[in-house]
Amino acid sequence: MGSDPFNLFSEYMDLPGLHKKTFLKFAHGFYAKFEEVKKQIFSRAVSVVRAEHAREKGIELMENTVLDICVSYDGTWLKRGHTSQIGIGCVIDVLTGLVLEAELLSTYCHTCETTGTWVKGNTPQRYNASYDEHRADCCINYVGTSGNMEVVAAELLWARSVDNHRLRYTSMLSNGDAKAFVKVQQLDIYPVTRGVLKSYF
Ligand SMILES: [Zn+2]
Repeated sequence: MGSDPFNLFSEYMDLPGLHKKTFLKFAHGFYAKFEEVKKQIFSRAVSVVRAEHAREKGIELMENTVLDICVSYDGTWLKRGHTSQIGIGCVIDVLTGLVLEAELLSTYCHTCETTGTWVKGNTPQRYNASYDEHRADCCINYVGTSGNMEVVAAELLWARSVDNHRLRYTSMLSNGDAKAFVKVQQLDIYPVTRGVLKSYF
């Protein structure tokens, strides 16, 4: 929710609204907390998934044991019509049904859109310095079409699965046109990569 919908909601509820800058300050604080919670939840899910797969395979699970697992992968967008500025790719372990990780991609940043546009238009000589200050907080982490977000998210998720989770997503169940699956195969991140595609109707 942006500051405008928040203030509209507050108005309907007969509550005081917030100035955009104040709203963004609180929002960034909330996002930072959300990141911590997200990491904890995914980390817990990974622990459960690793334990369940080790138990099923009948092997002793060491911290560095790398497990091959079958996952379901899909992407979705904030809005339909291939014009969404925000998309997400999500990996789900097939054995347990737990969400292991997700990658959010965005071509939109409220600060760039508002403050950045104003600085660029009114004091362009300050723009580079202004952007450098903002860079670490910038929400834009993707440049390209919304249709390709699912593919890029898969690339990132597969590339870090071993380092982050000691897991190899060696089988992918996915629907749609399987572009993400083809991309992951082409990347050849794992020594052996195999995929099982399934369409859901
Ligand atoms: Zn930005």
